[in-house]
Amino acid sequence: MQIVIVDSSRVVLQIIASLIEPRGHAVHPFTDSERALEFLAATPAVRVLITSLEVRPLCGLELCWAARLLAEERGPLHVIMMSSARNVRSLAEALDSGADDFIEKPPSAEELNARLRAAERLTTMQAELIRLAETDPLTGAYNRRAFFNRARSAAEQNCLPGGTSAILLDIDHFKRINDAYGHDVGDVAIKAVCGLIAGVGIAGRLGGEEFAVVLPACGLMEAAVRAERLRAASQALRIRGDHGVISLTCSFGVSTWIDGDSIEALIKRADIALYAAKTAGRNRVVSYQGDATLAVAS
Ligand code: GH3
Ligand code: MG
Ligand code: MG
Repeated sequence: MQIVIVDSSRVVLQIIASLIEPRGHAVHPFTDSERALEFLAATPAVRVLITSLEVRPLCGLELCWAARLLAEERGPLHVIMMSSARNVRSLAEALDSGADDFIEKPPSAEELNARLRAAERLTTMQAELIRLAETDPLTGAYNRRAFFNRARSAAEQNCLPGGTSAILLDIDHFKRINDAYGHDVGDVAIKAVCGLIAGVGIAGRLGGEEFAVVLPACGLMEAAVRAERLRAASQALRIRGDHGVISLTCSFGVSTWIDGDSIEALIKRADIALYAAKTAGRNRVVSYQGDATLAVAS
């Protein structure tokens, strides 16, 4: 595991590192608690924070709080508070400040490593639960909720007009594929289309045979070009069914960020454009360009 240790003494940091490094852990030592927090924010792979109560400029309890808030964004983080004063008050304060565990300073190698094994079990389980809660089981893509959360965070960093764009796509006449070839073949088609959007941007399965991609730092024209590439790729897909090879098409709606926008409104406009693509004959890309104008790109 990757472990951050914070203590004001380099000697203490060295001693603790020497207790846990032989067990295969990678240790990141810090004497400055603010630096440690920055490192935690930038390094989601860190699973454990061990901090002394007496550190600066943030004290151990403040660091605990800040790390706990961070963990909501960056994924599982197990916080172990370390103090030479093992009294009920400091223990209670540490736990109330968001620590998961408390250990006496200096800790014994046996106790510290046993607590780290427990931390590894817990954070592995948490990571798996988060993965299950965010993932669509059929395709492995983000589910609707996770997609909106991720897309919202990305859009917040690119929230100038034209700074973030969205593509919404839906398989054409999908019911016919299910009816003609069976649900299993329909599932294979859904996975194949999802495979096309994986890695294009922040991609998710919004439901059934409808998918969305959010493209940070991408304007409307560029998003329409990417959608057109996806349209051609979906038309070129060949899916093996019991009665031969099946092809399909998809329709696309594209929208871009405007002043005072929200991720929900951005996707809503892409949905309006997608509906226009469906009614205009399907297998095409339509960009949303205001309430009245919708440019049919193909
Ligand atoms: P349109 O071109 O207007 O989009 O028509 P459509 O037939 O694709 O759209 P419609 O929304 O009427 O039908 C979608 C179908 O997708 C209905 C539903 O049974 C099916 N579906 C939803 N989820 C799944 C799934 O996970 N697997 C399979 N095989 N089918 C699904
Ligand atoms: Mg459809
Ligand atoms: Mg649909």
